[in-house]
This record gives sequence, structure tokens and C-alpha cells, in this order.
Amino acid sequence: MSTPTPEPPERGDFIREIVAADVREGRVGEVVTRFPPEPNGYLHIGHAKSICLNFGVAREFGGRCHLRFDDTNPIKEEQEYIDAIEADVRWLGFDWGEHLYFASDYFEQLYEWAVHLIEAGKAYVDDLSADEIRAHRGTFTEPGRESPWRDRPVEENLDLFARMRAGEFPDGARVLRARIDMAAPNINLRDPVLYRILHAEHPRTGDAWCVYPTYDFAHGQSDAIEGITHSLCTLEFEDHRPLYDWLIENLPVPSRPRQYEFARLNLTHTVVSKRVLMRLVDRGLVHGWDDPRMPTMSALRRRGFPAEGIRDFARLVGVAKADNTVEVEMLEHCVRTVLNRTAPRRFGVLDPLRVVLTDYPEGKVEEMDVPNNPEDPQAGTRKVPFSRELWIERADFMEEPVCKFFRLAPGREVRLRSAYFITCREVVKDREGRIVELRCTHDPATRGGDAPDGRRPKATLHWLSAAHAVPAEVRLYGHLFADPYPGADGGDIFASVDPESEKVLSGALVEPSLAELPVGETVQFERLGYFCPDPDSVPGAPVFNRTLTLKDTWAKLQQRSRQAQGA
Ligand code: ATP
Ligand code: MG
Repeated sequence: MSTPTPEPPERGDFIREIVAADVREGRVGEVVTRFPPEPNGYLHIGHAKSICLNFGVAREFGGRCHLRFDDTNPIKEEQEYIDAIEADVRWLGFDWGEHLYFASDYFEQLYEWAVHLIEAGKAYVDDLSADEIRAHRGTFTEPGRESPWRDRPVEENLDLFARMRAGEFPDGARVLRARIDMAAPNINLRDPVLYRILHAEHPRTGDAWCVYPTYDFAHGQSDAIEGITHSLCTLEFEDHRPLYDWLIENLPVPSRPRQYEFARLNLTHTVVSKRVLMRLVDRGLVHGWDDPRMPTMSALRRRGFPAEGIRDFARLVGVAKADNTVEVEMLEHCVRTVLNRTAPRRFGVLDPLRVVLTDYPEGKVEEMDVPNNPEDPQAGTRKVPFSRELWIERADFMEEPVCKFFRLAPGREVRLRSAYFITCREVVKDREGRIVELRCTHDPATRGGDAPDGRRPKATLHWLSAAHAVPAEVRLYGHLFADPYPGADGGDIFASVDPESEKVLSGALVEPSLAELPVGETVQFERLGYFCPDPDSVPGAPVFNRTLTLKDTWAKLQQRSRQAQGA
């Protein structure tokens, strides 16, 4: 009997320690976090880590987590992405309740705060072009140069900023910049841009605005409006934290959130960057954002990965400050662990070879009781029809068996799972010499798959009744990139998509119960792997995606690395 795998314990990490201390020492009452996606693409497995962290921390500390769309760049953002992101977060098992927010809801407030900075002499309208601003910014070793517009009088700044908003100037003509310190060692403090002119239709505010706040100006202030206590983001924002704090200190915001950074999740054999994923889609190198080889949540779902397996993975990866790349086999291991427990066993034959039982009556059909999960008797049994003509897996037969091949061979007896023992008597070939049929006999005394005399064949095969089998298309997936670190050597990442990563089998067959399996249910084809119906299925003509094979390579990798460490 299989015991359910216990949930791995919540790992104490540096973020949870900070939150716990803030609560214990009374600095924070209710813990409030947020997951802040930009709706400019689909969520990927890296985002899943962030979602599990933000929603997880809120849940563990009895607080709440907001879903906030960071929709400050109308050029790249679309409603399609907003809808997909909401669906993905829900599917992963998290609920933001009534706390759905959009940075665009705060545009008016943010504008007022920008005016506040201008009035305080802490922001100015700059007429330099983007290129000139970049050229003035300096480098890590050289200080920046001040813009000639830096000392504009407040009144002029107010007037120009109002006219920027009113649409008097074209894109890029002017920006609003914070007036901080062009010699600051941190480049983010060298008068960062707060507002830019963009005459673009926004998915939510339409054409109400033609000036949009930058990420830096919107993010911390949105956090403050929502009363976020711990603003958790990835390490690339570490250098932005002084600006985050400067804005919070210099604005009359209603709360003082703090930002903490953690390492991004990177995975081998794939890429976790919306920009690169978008280009894979645009160039037709995959079939779409939810192509089952993609690391997006919609793709993992389509491929049959259960949300629970992804949450377990996020927990196992943990949260740390050091950047690292996690082996994709670890994700697969978490998924297999869940599926091994939950996926019903079924029969499917990927590469069929006909078997005729010469001593079995023509026209006779028996209903065999087959366990749904040999590891879990409580999962019960199902009826699978059995008859004279069967399909077995071509790979389960060898005319001249090599050493250690224990499956079917001429003169040899094997067990058909939950059916009969059969013995191969004759091999039938076509003109080209290809094996087209095996003529076998069965032992009626072994019905159900056990012999009264206790003899045990060395192999147990899966099978299908030819008259009842349902044709299916089966799509086999491997890693999108054969290279564990695609693009790391500076090569063209788009040229290195593995052409073998998708294989479509048209001649596969499955047992009748799988003809109309609903999308979203993953089963194990016995001895072959985990498979799930694809949304491309139509009634009577199912399409299955191979979620994973049965072989857990992660355990092996772990063992190898332990050996390498001499443990
Ligand atoms: P990408 O680099 O793929 O475009 P992004 O950071 O621009 O991602 P956002 O929509 O801004 O995407 O991300 C929303 C949240 O998810 C942010 O808080 C971000 O830090 C976090 N996040 C994004 N990628 C990862 C990752 N690989 N690992 C952990 N968290 C991530
Ligand atoms: Mg981003």
C-alpha cells in the first residue's frame, strides 16, 4: 500500500525569519504581501516560485497576499495576459480574495505624488532625449553629469508636467526625473526617470493617460497604498532599493513597506525569461505559450504536471539570496512523486504488435478486472475487455532475445497483466521481413494473472484487445534544449531548440476507458509513463501528451553528486 508522501516541511528561510521577527517584535501587525506580475506575457515556473513564496508567507503568518498587476507599460501589456495570469495563480492553488489590484488604479494618486515631488524641488522635467540621458548617466566608475534642465524653476516644471499629461508633446520629448544626486555611486539614484510620455492605448485606462509612471515610481508607492508590509522581489531589484526607500521617505504615503530580495529560479534545459519565451513563440519554434515543452505554467498544466507537484518543487528549492540553477529533473521528481500516488493506471500501447491467441475462441470477450493502482488497493479495479486478438508493445518482443531480455520471445511464456499467461509459438513476417504478428497460446488456468502451480513468468506485459482498442495520437516530449544551460556559451539560443523534443506518434492505441478522459486528468500508461489528454482531443479520437516517463533521473543525479562530494 502506498502511503501518501508527507508534505515536505516548510523550510525556514531568511525571508520567513525576517517576517517572523517583525511580527514577534511588533513592527508588523498583519503581514501583507503581493505578487506583482507585469501582464506582458505568460507566467513561468520562476513566477511560480514567487507566487508560492508571497502567498505562502501570507498564509503561514495569517495575513493576506494581493494580486497586483504592474501595468505601467501599455505598449507590451494585454488583457489576454491578465486573464491567463489570473487563471494560472488560481490553478496553482492560491486565492487573492477581494485583493485584486492594478497599478493603473493608482495613476491619479501617483500623478499627484509626482507633483508633490516637483513642488518640493525633488523632481524636474527634463528635455534631454533618452540617448542624451543615458550619455549623461555616467558609469560605475564615473559620476553622471547634470542635465541643463535640472534647475528649472518649480513653476515651470509644474506647467510642463501638466502639459505632458495634457498630451501637448510627442513620445520621448520630455520626461519627469527625480532630483537626487548625479554623483551617487548607485546609478539608480542619478536622477532616475519617474514619468515618460507614451501615446498608447492602455488595456484598462484606454486613452485617459499619455504619461505613464516607470516601474520604480509605481512599485513602491503601490505597495504603500495597499499597506504591503514585505515587498518581496528578485535580486535584480536590490540596487533599486535605495530609490524605493528614497521615494517612500519623500512622499506622503500611507504606509512604509520594506523591500527584500531573493534569488530568481533558473532551471536547466530551459529558459525562464518572458522575453525569450515570447520570441520562441513569435518565431514559431514552439506551437505557442502553452506548448507542453515550455516552462510556462499553462504549458506545464497542459503537459499534465499537477499544481501540487509544482508547489512541492517550490518548497524543495527554497528561498535564498544566491543565484543558482536548479536541475529540471528535480521538478520532474516532484511531479512524479505526486503522480505516482494519484494517477490511475491504464493500458496504452505506443508501438503496437499484433498477438493472436490461436487457442482462444473467436468472438469471445472477457472483462478482466484490472487494478487501478497496484500500489493502492483502495483505488479499486476496472474492467478491460480481452479477446483473441491483442496488441502488445513491439519493444516487448525479441525474436532473438539478448541477454537480460526477459520479455516475450519464441517459445517463452510471459504474463499479460491481470489476464493470462501466454506463450509465443510462431512469428509471422511480411515480405520485407518485418514482424507483423505473433501467434501465441494461453493457459486458461492462469486467468487473472496467477498460476495455480505458483509458476511466475519473468515478465508482465500490458496489452489491449484489438477489437476494443481506441486509436490515439500520442505526443512525446523531452527537454526543449538538449543543452542544460542553453545560451550560456553565448551561442544562438534560438538555433539550439532540440528538434527531437517533440515526437508525434500516430499509431498508438489506448484502452476504451481512455476514449473520453477529461482534460486535466493525468494517468499512468502502465510501464510507459504518465500521460494526459490534450485539449486537441475530440470525442473518440483522443490526443495524449506524455507528461513524463517513469524513470526518475533526479534520484540518480543526487546519488552521483553525493558520491562526487565523497559523502
Ligand atoms: P521575466 O524576466 O521572465 O520577464 P519579470 O521579472 O519581468 O520576468 P514580472 O511579471 O515582473 O516578470 O514578475 C513578477 C514577479 O515574479 C516579480 O516579483 C519577479 O521578481 C518574480 N519573478 C520573475 N521571474 C522569476 C524567477 N525566475 N524566479 C523567481 N521569481 C521571479
Ligand atoms: Mg519585471
